[in-house]
Amino acid sequence: MAAITLDRRLLATGWTDPPGETPYERSPSASTTRSSQATDPVNVVVVGGGFGGLRAAHEIQRIRSDREVYVTLIDKRNHHTFQPLLYQVATAGLDPQDVGQGLRQLFGAPRTSFGRWRARRRNPVRVVMGEVVGIDRTGRRVVLADGRRLAYDHLVVAGGAVTSTFGLPGVEEHGWRLKSLQQATHLRDHLIRQFEHAAADPDRVDDGTLRFVVAGGGPTGVEMAGAIAELAFEVLARDHPTLDVRRHVEVVLVEMGDRLLPAFDEELGRTAASTLERAGVDVRLGTALAEAEADHIMLTDGTRVDTTTLVWVAGVRPAGVAGLLEAELMRGGRVRITPQVHLPDDPRVFVIGDMAGAPTDDQLLPQVAPVAQQQAAYVAEVIGAQLRGRPAPGPFAYRDKGSMATIGRNHAVAELPGGLKLSGFVGWVAWLALHLLTLVGFRNRVSVALSWIHNWWTWDRSSRLIIDPPPADSRDAQVESTPVYPIGP
Ligand SMILES: Cc1cc2nc3c(=O)[nH]c(=O)nc-3n(C[C@H](O)[C@H](O)[C@H](O)COP(=O)(O)OP(=O)(O)OC[C@H]3O[C@@H](n4cnc5c(N)ncnc54)[C@H](O)[C@@H]3O)c2cc1C
Repeated sequence: MAAITLDRRLLATGWTDPPGETPYERSPSASTTRSSQATDPVNVVVVGGGFGGLRAAHEIQRIRSDREVYVTLIDKRNHHTFQPLLYQVATAGLDPQDVGQGLRQLFGAPRTSFGRWRARRRNPVRVVMGEVVGIDRTGRRVVLADGRRLAYDHLVVAGGAVTSTFGLPGVEEHGWRLKSLQQATHLRDHLIRQFEHAAADPDRVDDGTLRFVVAGGGPTGVEMAGAIAELAFEVLARDHPTLDVRRHVEVVLVEMGDRLLPAFDEELGRTAASTLERAGVDVRLGTALAEAEADHIMLTDGTRVDTTTLVWVAGVRPAGVAGLLEAELMRGGRVRITPQVHLPDDPRVFVIGDMAGAPTDDQLLPQVAPVAQQQAAYVAEVIGAQLRGRPAPGPFAYRDKGSMATIGRNHAVAELPGGLKLSGFVGWVAWLALHLLTLVGFRNRVSVALSWIHNWWTWDRSSRLIIDPPPADSRDAQVESTPVYPIGP
């Protein structure tokens, strides 16, 4: 108990790391016995500092209860990634630090007197950087790759998703992905390097060095194809006067279905296709990627496309941590949950966001940020009600606030509640405003706003530096997997 009092006092003065033995590391048997006492502190462990995990930590921090509540936020990275703007990092529009936010910065010791006063009124949040490699539901512990074990009374799992290649031959090895800042910066370096290769040896143009294929006609594919076209035709064309960029660069967007943006209204899908075509993108509908090699891809209609760049944004699957729960998986590998968002056989373990399933297949929700955030807020309500001895809230209900996708400079499509549809410049302004408002971190908002104004005004992309030397295969760094370690005694 003394350690716990110390935790809270130290948090307000700048302490964030556990000094030795703490309630977070107590043995499972102690946890079980002690948590049965109504006044004992409660440990809530949140896995994942993405959209769902971050919101969950913020909301649980606000729970008022007679029992002390301690939140531990674990992520394998030390930052939150604002994934909707990753494509702008990959196409040199924004710097990586504009769309990432340090988790310790968000939950570290407050600098101002007001911040310290507020911190004392909130439940403390401890940030732990580490990869979760085991979840022991019987002992109520989370195991990290470095061997640390963290006890929990409630567990919120928000590990997100990783790219799924659906086992298509060659995509794992030759497809560029877009799920992390690291992948986005590697892709940016690769795109810009292709122009350097072509400038150094114009014969490489015939081998597909300046042909960029994006697979997947959802919002990310549409945004990515539009941004590559803009980068090539408006920016890199000026950098490389010796290259005939208009003639040699090709951006191809491949979509298996018969229209782009299948989750949007049909008319908006058509608008997106015609806007992209006007921007110089070759939109190929009704055909899919069959296999990829280092220098070409094959489509299902038998076409061979020579290219050294395949951007694969056609599918995701839950991150490996979903498999650690030993829970029932449903379509797409998502974890089956109850209407109260917890595992059917374990009301202490909540699963939210991209890895969360639903009570039934036809209730699966889209894998988008608002779902993760709303589920996070709901889970805090459920935990708060439990701690205060109040009845649980009704089942989780998702409020769809609409969808948006930008298609390059001055163009976006948006579908809002009430059937309101926006496109063109108005849609684009709405898209800019929404992303600025939802971006995490004040500095990031200011920096992104300034970069956008600069890019729009000058038709430039200021982040087109090649940072890394060419790695042996930088795609190695992209492969995300969670090895499953046995938990041991
Ligand atoms: C390129 C791109 C563009 C997108 N655009 C949009 C958009 O415009 N609008 C929209 O609503 N949605 C968009 N999405 C989807 C949106 O980003 C996701 O739905 C959302 O991030 C899901 O939130 P989450 O909390 O479930 O997972 P995430 O936000 O992905 O967070 C998961 C976190 O868990 C951590 N983690 C994973 N495994 C472990 C482990 N074993 N140990 C420790 N930590 C772990 C990860 O490091 C990560 O920080 C986009 C996604 C991508 C990839």
